[in-house]
Amino acid sequence: MSTERIFNFSAGPAVLPEIVLDEASRHLKSLRDSGMSVLEMSHRSQEVSEIFDSAVANIRILANVPDDYHVLFLQGGATQQFAMVPLNLLSENGSADYVITGSWSKKAFKEAQRFGSVRIVGSSEDQDFVRIPTEHELEFSSDAEYLHITSNNTIFGTQWRSTPPGSTTAPVVVDASSDIFSRPIDVSRHGLIYAGAQKNLGPAGVTLVIVKDEIIRTKKLPERVPTMLRYATFADSASLYNTPPVFAIYIVGLVVKWLLQKGGLTAVAESNEQKAGKLYSILDSSNFYQGTADPHSRSLMNVTFRLPNEELEKRFLTQATNAGLVGLKGHRSVGGLRASIYNAFPEEGVETLTSFMREFERKSG
Ligand SMILES: *Cc1c(COP(=O)(O)O)cnc(C)c1O
Repeated sequence: MSTERIFNFSAGPAVLPEIVLDEASRHLKSLRDSGMSVLEMSHRSQEVSEIFDSAVANIRILANVPDDYHVLFLQGGATQQFAMVPLNLLSENGSADYVITGSWSKKAFKEAQRFGSVRIVGSSEDQDFVRIPTEHELEFSSDAEYLHITSNNTIFGTQWRSTPPGSTTAPVVVDASSDIFSRPIDVSRHGLIYAGAQKNLGPAGVTLVIVKDEIIRTKKLPERVPTMLRYATFADSASLYNTPPVFAIYIVGLVVKWLLQKGGLTAVAESNEQKAGKLYSILDSSNFYQGTADPHSRSLMNVTFRLPNEELEKRFLTQATNAGLVGLKGHRSVGGLRASIYNAFPEEGVETLTSFMREFERKSG
């Protein structure tokens, strides 16, 4: 373990496994025996083709992706998916359902409104997004072409217990940007899963899309839809229609290999529950720290909390930073504090934070 690394609680871009950074830096100047950096390689080269194939193959193993699903690497972030999803899946006279559980799902919904008829079938906005609506609060439409949900609400610290919600019949589209591969997922029960890589999967610059072949073939897209905004373009070219972000995909491949070595998604989920459990148990046993999310909707990825006043929060942040605990400031839209503890965040860092929190409460409480 190198001692100069601090504990990075940033919400994204976020911490990567140290073992991945070590491997990438060991090979940075020359990948295996190539005499060339992966940063310099043609995306049509044999080496890059192997990197892509093995990343896709390992993702298929990790998430048990069925054969009739594509594993694609796109650009434009999760935000571009807010447009690509309706552009590719919503027909002129059709409509889609959206559940609004935070700022990102609101943005996804707003963007979809550009393309056609979309409905809000559940929302926790009137409760400041502190919870995920329960199943019986959701009113799915019988004719929706898809249902869109955000599995983890990065800003508000809430997370669906599992996806998809039980009683929907439409193909389910999930923005899993901040909890992709943090727990087992039944891909076969989803139509499309997307995630910007920079939270739980790798560096910024690549978006993972796992999509069922059938749902990107049904709708005949108008001629004017740009080639680069069609899922079929990526599905038909194995994500190599144009120059892809090779380095970002290479790192995603290493992260996925690391997840498999850790024992796969069940083992990863156990570790995430353990880490989050330590923080929530502090919030629950203290009158000084106040968790902001409803206990039934708590996120295992982003733990949000407040102190008795903003003055104390400021002092907490400064002292935490000085103690090597960095990135704990809540999102600028909600304030407070947020500990983002994605897959790659080490348990040791959570323990260091919990000790710091106890000590800070003792001094200031
Ligand atoms: C960060 C985030 C986004 C935005 O991702 P970009 O890659 O920056 O476009 C979308 N959805 C969720 C849930 C996020 O956490």
